[in-house]
Amino acid sequence: MVFKILSDGLRRAPNKEIAMTITKGKVVTINYQLTNKAGEELDKSEPNEPLVYLHGVGQLVPGLEKALEGLKAGDSKAKIEVAPTEGYGEVRSELILKVGRDQFPSETELEEGMRFWAHTPEGQRHPFTVVGIQGDQIEIDGNHPLAGETLVFDISIVEIRDATKEEMEHGHAHGPGGHHH
Ligand code: ZN
Repeated sequence: MVFKILSDGLRRAPNKEIAMTITKGKVVTINYQLTNKAGEELDKSEPNEPLVYLHGVGQLVPGLEKALEGLKAGDSKAKIEVAPTEGYGEVRSELILKVGRDQFPSETELEEGMRFWAHTPEGQRHPFTVVGIQGDQIEIDGNHPLAGETLVFDISIVEIRDATKEEMEHGHAHGPGGHHH
């Protein structure tokens, strides 16, 4: 309580505007470009469609959230390197499996690249991609497509605001660039 009064006092201090920084519970608007170590572009925000996200709740990969923590609107950062362990994880060989054709709905024409929900050996629902078809043997991969990649981000901060109570409850940002529901 004492801390709250102190910080309110600081905010009201004349001619002293404290720039908002990225911390947990802020809704942040960023432009980003993602490449791999070889410099190949993997993803980016479109010029008029920046990414809007709620900071500190795991909407971004951990390594990127850490790199953004404490930045202000107008800041930019280039070549933020995120190792797989702080990104989409290492490739887990136990998630690359061969299963029988009869495990799939019989009416489905299987093709490489198709995605299915399946249960892991631990019983969790998990998305898998068909990566190979050899007769009745179907190879599926449950790793994230960017697992094992070192991610390289270029980012710029457009805007930072406080999240609303509703956004905190939902765990995501609302409004333009965020969730609409
Ligand atoms: Zn919501």
